[in-house]
Amino acid sequence: MPTPHLTHLSNADLHCHSLVSDGTLPPAVLAARAKANGVELWALTDHDEIGGQAQALEAAQALGLPYLTGVEVSVTFAGRVVHIIGLGFDHQDKALAAGLRATRGGREPRAREMAAGLAAVGIHGAYEGALKFVGNPELISRTHFGRFLVEAGHCSDIGEVFRRYLTEGKPGYVEHRWAQLGDAVRWIVQAGGTAVIAHPARYGFSPTVEYALFTEFIAHGGRGVEVVTGSHTAADAVRYTETAIEFDLLASRGSDFHSPEESRTDLGSLAALPGRLKPVWQALEQRIHWPA
Ligand code: AMP
Ligand code: MN
Ligand code: MN
Ligand code: MN
Repeated sequence: MPTPHLTHLSNADLHCHSLVSDGTLPPAVLAARAKANGVELWALTDHDEIGGQAQALEAAQALGLPYLTGVEVSVTFAGRVVHIIGLGFDHQDKALAAGLRATRGGREPRAREMAAGLAAVGIHGAYEGALKFVGNPELISRTHFGRFLVEAGHCSDIGEVFRRYLTEGKPGYVEHRWAQLGDAVRWIVQAGGTAVIAHPARYGFSPTVEYALFTEFIAHGGRGVEVVTGSHTAADAVRYTETAIEFDLLASRGSDFHSPEESRTDLGSLAALPGRLKPVWQALEQRIHWPA
């Protein structure tokens, strides 16, 4: 049985990014923002990287904010990138760290290829330009190229950058192989954590491929799906409420906050999870770092 304070907890925010990946704020600043916005349980989920976990945990403890360790792993599934959130794992786990390091390894050559693609359409110096926005040299991402292209005046906002330059078929897009679904789920589960499919509405899969994603994810040991997230519309949340029930998955909730300037959904400002769902945090009680 969950403890009473877990049963009543509603403002969990279990998805956001720091400058350890493609967010713009340090982990401790995010912790303070989460606390100020009324978050009751928080997780920092940087892309393919757990280097910010110790700082996030320490800051959360100092603020009296319950914390779950987190990560968002990039996976290639059916030719597209799918994100798998890990929650409540041991952030000292060696195999998880090694798997994430291998996943990050492709980013540097990919970034150079992206810059070459952009140079071919007359946008020069994009690699060096993107690097100026990078907080972690192992984690250069499309977001950093986006910030450069806006700063250099090629686009008016990041959304326009992705539409014109950084998505499939566009000059700065590079086909890339990320981790395999089964590996990502295993790294998380073997480190004591729970794996969750992030923002499923974003992938644009056909019903058949989406069914394959969910069934394979569960077969590998995955247990949850993000239902209420800054990356979903209200209609998406309704749709994936049904999916969570159909597949008997735990439900997660997270803003996917990256930056005060760029993100529409702030930490702690999401709609509640529908009451019919089983919140993922109720299954993670033993993994929560409660304040002393
Ligand atoms: P990468 O891991 O390098 O492929 O970069 C993916 C990141 O780009 C995501 O985590 C988002 O932060 C960001 N992103 C993806 N699509 C968009 C979009 N349409 N507009 C703004 N940011 C986006
Ligand atoms: Mn991101
Ligand atoms: Mn994502
Ligand atoms: Mn994210």
